[in-house]
This record gives sequence, C-alpha cells and structure tokens, in this order.
Amino acid sequence: MAPAIPQTFSTFNIPPTRRHVDTIDFLLGRPSLELLPEALRPSARSFLSYLATLPASAPHQCPACASRSISLAIPAGSRGLRRDGYYCRNCNKRFNVLSGTPLRLLRSEDKWKPWMSYRFQGFSQELIATFLGISNKASMTWSRAFMEAMADYDADLHRWWEDHQSTQVSELTDEVEEALEACVAALAELTVLTDRHCPYCGSSSNQVLTSRRATEYQCHGCGRRYNNLTETPLSHIQHKELWPEYLRLLVVGYHDTEIGERLGLSKSLTNLWRQRFLEFMQPRWPLLAHWTLWQWSRRRASSSGEPLP
Ligand SMILES: [Zn+2]
Ligand SMILES: [Zn+2]
Repeated sequence: MAPAIPQTFSTFNIPPTRRHVDTIDFLLGRPSLELLPEALRPSARSFLSYLATLPASAPHQCPACASRSISLAIPAGSRGLRRDGYYCRNCNKRFNVLSGTPLRLLRSEDKWKPWMSYRFQGFSQELIATFLGISNKASMTWSRAFMEAMADYDADLHRWWEDHQSTQVSELTDEVEEALEACVAALAELTVLTDRHCPYCGSSSNQVLTSRRATEYQCHGCGRRYNNLTETPLSHIQHKELWPEYLRLLVVGYHDTEIGERLGLSKSLTNLWRQRFLEFMQPRWPLLAHWTLWQWSRRRASSSGEPLP
C-alpha cells in the first residue's frame, strides 16, 4: 500500500524532525509482519483479510440465537441502510453481518485493514491516526475493538500481541534474539579486532600502535591514525563493558531515563548512545532496529516527554 504521510504532522505530538521522518520511512520500508513470530504470521495475515472482507460478507447465522434459518430482509442502500439487513426466522431479530461483533460501531471500514497492518508493523495508534486521517479518539476505539475481534478470531495471536503491548513483557522472538546475539558478538569483535583496514583510504597496510586498551593504527597509505571505532557510529563511545547490557535494555524498549538509572549513565550520554546504537544496528540488523523502535514506542505512554529515537 502507498501511505501518505506528510502534511499530517500537525496532529502529531512529536515535532517532525528530520530524524523522525527517517524513522517513519525506515519502519514503512520493513516487511509488515516481521515483528511477529514466524508461526503467527499466517494468522495475522488472515486476520487482516478478515477485517478487509467481513463488512461486505454475508452472515451465516443469527448473532442472537445462532439459528441458521436467516434471510435477507432489507438490502443495503434501501431505507438508508449501510449494510444488508437480515431477519432471523427463529427469534425474529433483525441484524447485519457486524451485529454482535466488536466491530459493529466502527465506521470507515476501508481503513480497518490498513490500520491493523500499520499496527502490526509497529506504528503507534496516534501515528496511524495521522496516516489514515482519523481522529486519535477513533484510533483508540478501533484499537480496543480490533483487540477484541482478534481475541475472537485467534486466541494465540491475540495473546502474543497483547503481551507485547504491555511493558511487563519483554520476551523477544527467536529471530530478534538471534539478531541481538549477532549484534552483541559484532560489538565484542570491534573491541578485539587488530587488522582493520583504514576507514579513510581503504589501505590494508598499517602499523598497530597500541592494542592494550584499544587497538590504534597508523595507516601507511594516507598516514592518518585510526582505531576500530573510527568513522563508525560508535566512535568515541566509551564504557565498552556496558554495551551488551545497554543494547539489550534498548532493544526491549527501555527509555533513556530508565537505562541511565540502571547503568549509571548521564542523560546526555543515554541520548547519544540511543542514536548511535540504532545507527549501528540498522543497516546490518534491521529487524533489531525495527523491534527496538516498536518496543520503545510501546513504553512512551509510561514515560512521556522523550522524542522518538
Ligand atoms: Zn435468532
Ligand atoms: Zn589510510
């Protein structure tokens, strides 16, 4: 789907900074169901098509008495009805396909599937409201209704999804766990590497000046000095011993203040680290960055006032 984002920022409570737009572009470019465990993706996909097709489908039974003895009473369009009206021959009740479902009061049904799809992709309900041109209040109502509908539709999908909206649960999917381990391993490698090519001229001819605290090189090609972090997002980031723990806290969605308290880092450091580490993980482990941004926005409600990473 081709989303329309710009000019909608006026209703969004975070200033539309350059970084913010980049973050949205990044999320939009990600596969839409990749945050979910692989086993739940088929259910999520069919839940999306359920939302898309339900309003125009025909009911199979009466929502009041479950009788299958039903007939079309008033076609959509006549008497101002938006949907086909049905009649139950058993209990005499009138209904339509949405009667008795959590979706019965929702409008703009053409936006239901996109709404849920954006949600699965990790966007906040406020941001989805701006994407789709609905109010924040409607977006909140839809969120509740879709959660209920999901519970009826697929209990496993619903349980997993609901758990991951809660800040109490920080369990990663297998794929995210693997990406995190790979990223931590790459960080460890950065600290012990002793044969890095020159980041300025690409020369592999160098002299290792020191490797005790941090490997430092003198390039024979361009004559410049560099180390393993030079010209990487992590240049000048200290406290290597904290990196693995920092990364895990960031990935499960902790905000700067909480991380700062746990690891004893100042506010300006946690702010810098968040940007640098996201920059570090994004190209090589995009799923990890995607997950981090999603889980981060989940916690925004509990610690407001911080900008989008
Ligand atoms: Zn009935
Ligand atoms: Zn060089």
